[in-house]
Amino acid sequence: MKKVIYPGTFDPVTNGHVDIVRRAVELFDEVIVTVAKNPTKTELFSVEERIEMLKESMKGFPTVKVDSFGGLVVDHARQVGAVGIIRGLRAVSDFEYEFQMALMNRKLADDIATILLMPHARYTYLNSTIVRNLAAFHGDVSGFVPPFVEKKLKEKFPKKSL
Ligand code: ADP
Repeated sequence: MKKVIYPGTFDPVTNGHVDIVRRAVELFDEVIVTVAKNPTKTELFSVEERIEMLKESMKGFPTVKVDSFGGLVVDHARQVGAVGIIRGLRAVSDFEYEFQMALMNRKLADDIATILLMPHARYTYLNSTIVRNLAAFHGDVSGFVPPFVEKKLKEKFPKKSL
């Protein structure tokens, strides 16, 4: 029974994240998508809202669970009995950061592997910040996020009635 965790901010989850999960479920028995509880000023959705959106978006994957964690990723991986940490690699620009994190996590926990997965090319330019900004100006986000997330974004940024 090989379990992995997929940690991230997921503020909000995008189709790029879902693409990574789709690839991870093919390789592992269980994938735990886990929301990092690191309060930042740029946060749009609460941890609870992000979990709700993830749960809705993962409905088609029976081997996926959703949770949250605070503190070190490797500690959370150990706690849930995961053999590895899934991360997405969109472009060379992601590489340096992911490489640093992977080596640091290996130093902290040699028995936990980092697995980098590449999404479909159509998602390589997509990130949560772009989606948040697009939604704030009422741009069409339908191709970038699951339908439930689109609905939640519209609630966050209602169009002012004339
Ligand atoms: P973001 O970088 O969008 O703020 P997160 O912190 O939620 O995203 O990212 C969690 C993981 O998912 C990271 O490994 C990140 O590289 C990956 N990821 C984010 N967006 C995409 C995408 N569009 N395609 C593939 N992987 C992605």
